[in-house]
Amino acid sequence: MKKILFVSSEVFPLMKTGGLGDISSSLPAALHSFGQEVRVLTPAYADALATLRKVREISIAPAGNRLRLVESENPETSVPIWLLVHPDFSDRPGNPYLAPDGRPWYDNAERFAFLARAAVDIALDRAGLNWRPDVVHCNDWQTGLIPPLLGTEQARPATVFTVHNMAYQGVFPYDVFKKLGLPAHLWAPDALEFYNQMSFIKGGLVFADRINTVSPTYAEEIQTEEFGCGLQGLLRERRDRLQGIINGIDDVTWNPAQDPLIAATYDVATIERKAMNKAALRTALGLQEKAEIPLVAVVGRLVQQKGIDLIIDALPELLEMQIQLAILGTGDALYEQQLQQAARRHPGDIGVRISYDESLAHQAEAGADMFLMPSRFEPCGLNQMYSQRYGTVPIVRRVGGLADTVEDANPTNVALGRASGVVFHEPSAAALAQAVRRAVALYRDPPTWQRIQRTAMEKDFSWRQSARHYVDLYTLAIGDCRLSRPPSLRVATSS
Ligand code: ADP
Repeated sequence: MKKILFVSSEVFPLMKTGGLGDISSSLPAALHSFGQEVRVLTPAYADALATLRKVREISIAPAGNRLRLVESENPETSVPIWLLVHPDFSDRPGNPYLAPDGRPWYDNAERFAFLARAAVDIALDRAGLNWRPDVVHCNDWQTGLIPPLLGTEQARPATVFTVHNMAYQGVFPYDVFKKLGLPAHLWAPDALEFYNQMSFIKGGLVFADRINTVSPTYAEEIQTEEFGCGLQGLLRERRDRLQGIINGIDDVTWNPAQDPLIAATYDVATIERKAMNKAALRTALGLQEKAEIPLVAVVGRLVQQKGIDLIIDALPELLEMQIQLAILGTGDALYEQQLQQAARRHPGDIGVRISYDESLAHQAEAGADMFLMPSRFEPCGLNQMYSQRYGTVPIVRRVGGLADTVEDANPTNVALGRASGVVFHEPSAAALAQAVRRAVALYRDPPTWQRIQRTAMEKDFSWRQSARHYVDLYTLAIGDCRLSRPPSLRVATSS
C-alpha cells in the first residue's frame, strides 16, 4: 500500500472544465479501491465549497505560512479530499482559470504557486496533518512547481507528473518568476526558463521522477515537433522516464444501464431502447422527428484543438447526407456564433446548445447514433469512450488517445468483430465528411451497425487496468527518487 497525495486544479463534481476534472475524481477512486491510501488536494473554489456536504475546517501552520484547509470527501467517490482555502480561490465563483472576459485570471501564477507551496508543506509533513505521502502525483501545469520545489528537499516523497494536455503550459514573464520568490537556481534553461519566460509545465517535466501522459500514442506524439509545443527536445531527453497510460472512465456515472440523467436506460441486450433517448434528444434540441435519419452528436469545448472549424467547414457536405446534428459546447466566440448561425439556417436539422450542461452531455451520448470528434490533437479524450459505452458509434481522427481507443470499421475489423467506430486520418473537412459518409453507409446496414454498437458497448474502459499501471508507475518513481542525485545535476536540457 502506498500513500499518495494527488494534486489537481479541478476535481469533479466540485469543479470541472474538462477531462482533468473527471480523471481527478475517478483515478483516486480507482486507486482507493485497489487499497492505496489517497488524499486529494485541490483549491477551495467558491463553487466547490457550495457542493460539499461534510466539512471540517482545519488551520495548519507550516513554517511561516498559515494555511486553511477544508477537509471533506469527494461526494461522488468518498475519497478524502483537502480543499485549500484562499480568497483568490474561495471568493471567486466561475471558471477556475479564466475571468468572465475569457482571459486568464491576472494572478494565475500566484494562485497556483500558492497551491504548489501548500502541497510541498503537506508532502513534507510540515503542515501538522500527521501524514506523509510516498508519492506526490501532480497534474498539468497548475501543479508544475511542486517537483522543483520538492527537489531541493533532502527527505522528500517521489513525484509523478501527468500531462493531460501539452498545449496548456502556464508560461509567464520573468517578472512573475521574481515576484513569486522562487529559488534563483530555477531560472535556467534546464529548469523553469523557457525562451526568456517562466514555464510551470517545465517544472513538472524536468524535475518529476516520472512523467506520463494519458495515452500511449500521445506519449510518442509529444516527442515530435508537431505535438511537442516546443518541449519535444526535453521530452525526448527524458523518454526513459516517460510513458503513456490510457485514462479509464467513471463507469458508474457513465453507464447507460443505470444513468439517471437519460430518458430510458438500456444495455447491450436492450439497445433498441436507445430510440427513446434519440426522441428525447431531438426534442431537447428542437430537431425534427425524422425516421431513419442518423443523429450525430458533438459535445465538448468548442476550440480549434477539437477540430470544430473542420465540422463548420464540412457542414454543407454533411447536410447533403441526410443527417441531423446535435451540438453541445462552449468555447471560442467565433465558433459559437458560426454554429448558432448554422442552426438558425437549418432549423430542425442542426440543434446547438451553447452551455455547459452535464445532463445534456449524458442525453447526447445516449440519444445520438454517432459521435463526432475530429480533434487536431487529443491527449486521451473521454467522450469517444463514453459514446462507445452508450452504443453511439464514434467518428474520430487517428490521433492520440482516439487512435488508442477506437477500432476502425474497415472490412477486416468488421469481419473480425473488432470494429467500434470510424477512424480517419487527414485533419480536413473533406476527410471528415468522407468518414461521416462511411458511417452513414454502415448505419444503413443494420446487422453490421448493431454489431459495431455491441462491440463498442462491450469494451472495457474502466480504470481496472490503468489504475494498476499507475501503481507500477509510483513504484518506479519511488525507486528513482531514492537513487536521484540533486536535481541540478540530473536535469535534461530544454528543447
Ligand atoms: P477535454 O478534457 O480536452 O475537454 P475530454 O474528452 O477529455 O476533453 O473531456 C471532456 C469532458 O468534459 C467530458 O466529460 C465531456 O462530457 C465534458 N464536457 C465538455 N464540454 C461540455 C459541455 N458543454 N457540457 C457538458 N459536458 C461537457
